Amino acid sequence: MARNKVAVIGAGNVGGTVAQWLAMEHLADIVLIDINAGLAKGKALDLMQAMLMQGTGVKVSGGDDYSMIEGAKIVVITAGVPRKKDPKTGKFPSRDELVKTNQGIVGEISKKVAQYAPDSIIIVVSNPLDAMCHVALQESGFSSRRVIGQAGALDTARYKTFIASELNVNVHNVHGITLGGHGDQMVPMTRQTSVSGIPIMELMDKKTLDDIVERTRKGGGEIVSLMGYSGYYAPAAGTVYMVASILNDLKRVVPSSVYLTGQYGYHRLYMGVPVVLGWNGVERIIEMELNEEEKTMLDASAASVKKVVEILGF
Ligand code: NAD
Repeated sequence: MARNKVAVIGAGNVGGTVAQWLAMEHLADIVLIDINAGLAKGKALDLMQAMLMQGTGVKVSGGDDYSMIEGAKIVVITAGVPRKKDPKTGKFPSRDELVKTNQGIVGEISKKVAQYAPDSIIIVVSNPLDAMCHVALQESGFSSRRVIGQAGALDTARYKTFIASELNVNVHNVHGITLGGHGDQMVPMTRQTSVSGIPIMELMDKKTLDDIVERTRKGGGEIVSLMGYSGYYAPAAGTVYMVASILNDLKRVVPSSVYLTGQYGYHRLYMGVPVVLGWNGVERIIEMELNEEEKTMLDASAASVKKVVEILGF
């Protein structure tokens, strides 16, 4: 049986690591595409050689030619420009400038995906995440079931990891979820969090849990402040978790940024909510019952996503 093909656009830290994990898990043949063709070709070659030593038959190729993505079942978009100082002016770009730059990049890539892999499912990783999902949806013309953002898998992993470390329990026994946009206003759902069914409130005091919620919200910034650039192992692992659920039709419930058309009271907005991921992409959006406090927090998160989406000018 032929193996599935996954294309990863952007062969930087996140893209390269996604490719590495896909290959190690024998999930698919991989195509790495980058505007820097040498980087994509070099990483593909390096990875291919590593895989040969592991005895897997996964094929990895790279370059800047989009015809290579033909036949891909999933296209992961990780291309983008990070927020860094302009070496000429010494100034940081404004948030709006950065959104516009990445809109151009993700928009062009999405058009190419529609041209060369019209039946694929797009997983967006590029930031600002929820807004970039809008761009991919608009420019690909795909059904929203096939344009999904990776954020909740990562945010939830961070949340569960902090809880597991605090309680010194296996992270697999921690159950919980974060909702909302991929930003400081995401909403970790403490009321529904448990350790093997034991409500989290019975296992730690409110202050400890509040601190974990705050640390989760700022989880990306914590890593940037340590390394000077954003993390990539956990973002890549979250992406591969989604890819596996789709390719193997696992129907995992994964919090993901999806296009809401009235669910949770939001219309035409990408935001993180629990969804069932299977062979067709988003197979179901699950609506959780929220209390007033949770809904107020989710509204604030939605408002901050909307502000960025407005910059896109759709
Ligand atoms: P990186 O700078 O290491 O890699 C980005 C790559 O994109 C570079 O190799 C660059 O050459 C390439 N690129 C730029 N323009 C391109 C174009 N037009 N076509 C093809 N390739 C192009 O950055 P990274 O750390 O890998 O992060 C990638 C993106 O993912 C960023 O936008 C980052 O903010 C985002 N990110 C998202 C999450 C999440 O949870 N959603 C987590 C981490 C990072």
